[in-house]
Amino acid sequence: MNANHVNLKGLNRFELESLVQSWGEPKYRAKQLMSWIYQKGVSDFESMTNLPKSFRQTLASHASISQTEIVTSSVSADDKSIKYLFKLPDGKQVESVLMFDQQRVTVCLSSQFGCAMGCQFCATGKMGFFRNLTTAEILDQYLGIQKELSGDRSITNVVFMGMGEPFANYAPTLKAIRLLCGQETTGMAERRITVSTVGLAPQIRRFANEGLKCKLALSLNATTNADRSRLMPINFQFPIDEILSATKHWTEKTGELVTLEYVLIRGVNDRTKDAERLCELMSNLSCKLNIIPFNEIADSNFQRPDADEIENFQKIMTRNHYVAPIRFSKGNDITAACGQLRTIYHQTGKTMTGNP
Ligand code: SAH
Ligand code: SF4
Repeated sequence: MNANHVNLKGLNRFELESLVQSWGEPKYRAKQLMSWIYQKGVSDFESMTNLPKSFRQTLASHASISQTEIVTSSVSADDKSIKYLFKLPDGKQVESVLMFDQQRVTVCLSSQFGCAMGCQFCATGKMGFFRNLTTAEILDQYLGIQKELSGDRSITNVVFMGMGEPFANYAPTLKAIRLLCGQETTGMAERRITVSTVGLAPQIRRFANEGLKCKLALSLNATTNADRSRLMPINFQFPIDEILSATKHWTEKTGELVTLEYVLIRGVNDRTKDAERLCELMSNLSCKLNIIPFNEIADSNFQRPDADEIENFQKIMTRNHYVAPIRFSKGNDITAACGQLRTIYHQTGKTMTGNP
C-alpha cells in the first residue's frame, strides 16, 4: 500500500461519506464503495464499474484498499476446524480459526499480535505483546476466510478468542464489530458476535454502554484472588470482585447472560473446593459457564486433567444445580485450539517462536 494513500478498508460509513464528498462526489458513493470492498471483495478501483471513470482515477491516485493475505491454512484431522495464517503488511503473521459445528460456522478472530496480559497457561501470553491490529486487519481475517469458503457456506458466528485481548485494543475492535454488522458490509448480527475478555473492568463497563447486542465472555479461570493472580497477572489490577461488579453492570445494561470461561488445569483450579467456590460465585451472577479443559502448550508444566477429573469437577457443579458444559476446543492437532495460537514467524532470516 502506498504510504500517502488513505486506506478505505476500516473506515466507517460516515468517514467514507465525508471522504468522497471531499473529492466532490455524492454521499452515496460511500455505500457503493463499501459494497465493492466488503461484499464483492474487490480492491482494484478499475473493476468498480458502477463508479465514474474520473472518480476511479481520483481513487487510484489517493486511496488504496489494504489486503491481508492468507499465507497458509491447515485442516484438523476431524475436518471440523481450519487454522489460517495471515501475513500483515509488516511481515508479522497472525492466526484465525474457522470451526464447523452442525449449522454453525464460527470464525475465531485475533485482535492483537501477541498479548501483554501474560496469562501463564496461554501460548499467546507467553509470546509477549508486539502490536495492536488495525480495524482493517481484524476485518481482513473475516473477509479472507469468507472468501476461502467461496460461497459453499457462510460464516454464522464470530468470536474474539484468537490472539490478543480485544479490550486492550478497544476502539479498533469495536469499529470492526460495528463494520461487520453494517448492512452495507457483511450484515453479521450483533448477537452472533462474542467478545472474550481477560477481565478489563473499565472496558467491560464501557462495552455495556455501546448499545450493542453482542455477547460477552469473561475468562475467569480461578476462584480466589491469590490463585487468579498467579495464573493471570492482570488480576492484581482488576481483582475478582471488581470484574464481577463490572460484569453485573454489563448484564444489567444489556439484559444478557455473561459466559464465564473456566480453563480447567490439573491440580491448579480443578479441586473440589474450586468447584464449590465457583458455585458460590455464580450464585450472585446472571451467567452461563463453559469448562474448557486446558490445551497443552509448549514451555509450560500445566496439565490437562484426565477425563475422570474433569467429570468430577462437572459433577460438583451439577449437584449444586449449575449447568457446566465441557467445551473441548477444536483444532488441537493443528494447534488451533483455545490459547494455542502462537505464530512461528520469520524475521531477518531467523525463525522465532516467542519472545523477541
Ligand atoms: N484475551 C481474551 C481472548 C483470547 S483467549 C481472553 O483471555 O478471554 C480465549 C480463551 O482461551 C480464554 O477464555 C482463555 O482463558 C482461553 N485459553 C487460553 N489459553 C488456553 C489453553 N492453553 N487451553 C485452553 N484454553 C485457553
Ligand atoms: Fe492474552 Fe487472553 Fe491469552 Fe490471557 S488468555 S494471555 S488475555 S490472549
